[in-house]
This record gives sequence, structure tokens and C-alpha cells, in this order.
Amino acid sequence: MNILVINCGSSSLKFQVIDTDNGNVLAKGLCERIGIDGAITYENVRDKGGKVKQETQIEDHKKAISLVLDALTDPRGGVIRSLKEIGAVGHRIVHGGEKFTKSVVITDEVIAAIREVSDLAPLHNPANLTGIQACQALMPDTPMVAVFDTAFHQTMPPKAYMYAIPLHYYEDYKIRRYGFHGTSHAFVSREVAKYIGKDASELKTIVCHLGNGASVSAVQYGKCVDTSMGLTPLEGLIMGTRSGDLDPAVVDYIASKENTDAAGVLQILNKKSGVEGLSGGLSSDFRDLWKARNNGDKKAELALDAWAYRVAKYIGAYTAAMNGVDVIAFTAGVGENDSASRALVMQYLGYLGITLDEEANNVRGDIAEISTKDSKVRVFVFPTNEELAIAQETYELVK
Ligand code: ADP
Repeated sequence: MNILVINCGSSSLKFQVIDTDNGNVLAKGLCERIGIDGAITYENVRDKGGKVKQETQIEDHKKAISLVLDALTDPRGGVIRSLKEIGAVGHRIVHGGEKFTKSVVITDEVIAAIREVSDLAPLHNPANLTGIQACQALMPDTPMVAVFDTAFHQTMPPKAYMYAIPLHYYEDYKIRRYGFHGTSHAFVSREVAKYIGKDASELKTIVCHLGNGASVSAVQYGKCVDTSMGLTPLEGLIMGTRSGDLDPAVVDYIASKENTDAAGVLQILNKKSGVEGLSGGLSSDFRDLWKARNNGDKKAELALDAWAYRVAKYIGAYTAAMNGVDVIAFTAGVGENDSASRALVMQYLGYLGITLDEEANNVRGDIAEISTKDSKVRVFVFPTNEELAIAQETYELVK
């Protein structure tokens, strides 16, 4: 079945058409600067058509979806003849709160429930809803499915998801840890198990999703028992521009020193911190940081060392949480492509009986076992594929 996968942000919309019979991507692309001016990039992957970018006015998300559907059905370069060839649409939804523990077919009640939890992700959920409504307006008879970034982590026990603050904040406002990147953690933990001929229900797995945004999860016998992101994606690891864990008192302290408010500080912690902040503003991109470090830049060295140390600490914590670990998987932009950063993390894992296989680690974007044969824990590079995971979930619900 052909599934249209939509990942809708406030001013952008990413899409892919995936044939779930074989997992092949037929077409993909991106609408940018929606509501500002606009541009659509479209790639016919099936026929190796290359990327075509067209600047055009995109006043709202409905216009964006209509441009996407036009491109998909265009006699030159399109991959389908009519919209009937799209069996369903899968929408990535950032926050499902506690209401959604798995993907669901979208109904009016589901839309209302996504709106209800929008307080928890005020930048993302409203944009995701706009994408759903734009698709419904143009494809009224096509089933749609919501796939939530938070759903996989809903199996965490209260001891892992509760913050030690007055209980009524949880009861009244649902303040707790939720975790994100759930589609990726679910996909990688399941697929890496399959790859080694096991079922996820037999393994204790730590998934390190290390991209610009980054999180670690502890997946015990197929269920997430802990993850590093919290109420929002700011908690946990040091990321491209996000600070990750810090003393909450820092917020007020920066606010008073810099004459700003909590919102101003959160902006700094989200956008100006992480490896970019630590490197003195050099870059959030690990390629730039390694280049600088290799040229003797001490700030880049500090940023990368602190980043790796934090990942290693979480691996240690999650090994304790599960009383052991069988498999560690590195995924996402840095995890899949950056052998030097992986090696930095692996330096800390000797106590687990892990030795890095340096030759095997010399890999980019492919599955590879990067621990030596005699290591006590198997470590893998395992590419994530969130779009394929969304397409598969969607297919399972509508088939
Ligand atoms: P997100 O989805 O959170 O935006 P990605 O998972 O796409 O992020 O990861 C993007 C990051 O991956 C880039 O910022 C860059 O730091 C890193 N990256 C991508 N390719 C490489 C590479 N070849 N070497 C090192 N780092 C890379």
C-alpha cells in the first residue's frame, strides 16, 4: 500500500510516499517558509528524478498539501496517477500526552484529544493539527493515522517519569517526563533485535538517538523503561543547540544577570546552548566541531568531550536501570555517520566488557557491529527510519 507520510511544522512540511509492500520510497520532499513566501522541493526517488526546487507562494498548509499532491500526480515526474493510489496518510504528531500510548486512526475525537494536550507542545501540536486538517480537506475519503513521538515511552514506570516536585503539579497539569523520538527508539530497538535473529522481548537494549536533537532510551524486553528527554525535548543529553540536564536554578540566575525572563532563558537553553554554546558559538554541526578540534581548537574539544561524557553517563544509568544490557545501538545523524564521536563514547564502556572494533566503526549510514567479537555487549550502528516506521504503523491500522 502507498502511504503518504506527513511531518508538519509551523512553517515547513516534510513528506514521503512509501510503498509498505517493499519499504521503497517513491517520492519525497519539503515545503518551506509556509506563510512567509514559500518553496517546494520534490524528488521522484523511484525513477531517480533528482531534486527539483520551485519557489512559489505558499500562504498556508492547505496550499502546501495541494502542491505536494499536484507534484505526486504530475504526469511528468509524479509517482502516482491519481490520489486513489494513496491508501492512507500517516501524520507524525509530537505530543500525545498520556492519552496516546500507541498510534491511532484519526477521528474527530482524536483531533480533539490532540488539541487538548497541545499545551504540552505549543509549538508543535497545533502545526501537526494544521497538517491533518489540510490533508482531510483535500483527501476527505483517505484514512489518516496519528503516530506520536511520545507513545513508545508511555510504558515507563512512574518512578522513571515522575519529577520530585509537589504531586499536584502532576495531578493538575500532567507535569512529568514524556520522552520524544519514540518512533525512532521503537524502530531501532525492534529492528536491531531482528537483525541479530532475536525478538526485542528477549533483550535489554539501549538506543542512543544522536542527531541534532538527541535522546537515549532503555528498552527492556521490548518496552521502554526510561528515556532521557522529559516534559519537553530539552532534558537529557547535550544536543546540537540544547543544553540538556542542568540545575533548574540556572534559569533564574541567567535571567537576573542578563535582564531577561524565564522564556528568554529557555530560548537560550534551546537555541544557543548544547555543543554550539559550549564551543563558544562555533557550530552545532559535529563535522565543523571535529574539523576545529583536529586543528587544535580547545573549545570544540571541550564541547565534544562533554557531549560524549553525557551520553556515556546515560548508558551507565540505563544499564543500572535494567540491571544489565545486551545491545547498544547508535542511530540518527551523529550516531550513524560520526565514527569519531562514537569512539569517544565507547572509551567509557570498557567496564561493560566492550571493546571498539575500530575497523568496523569506520562506517557511515549502514548497519554495522562495532564491538569486537569477544565483547560482552554487542554494539551496533543502526540507521533509523522514522518515515518508514510511520508508514508501517499506518498500514497496520488501516489494512
Ligand atoms: P535532527 O533530525 O535532530 O535535525 P539528524 O539526526 O538529521 O538531526 O542529525 C543531524 C546532525 O548529524 C548534524 O547536525 C551533524 O552534526 C550530524 N552529522 C550528519 N552527518 C555527519 C557526518 N558525516 N559526520 C558527523 N556528523 C554528521
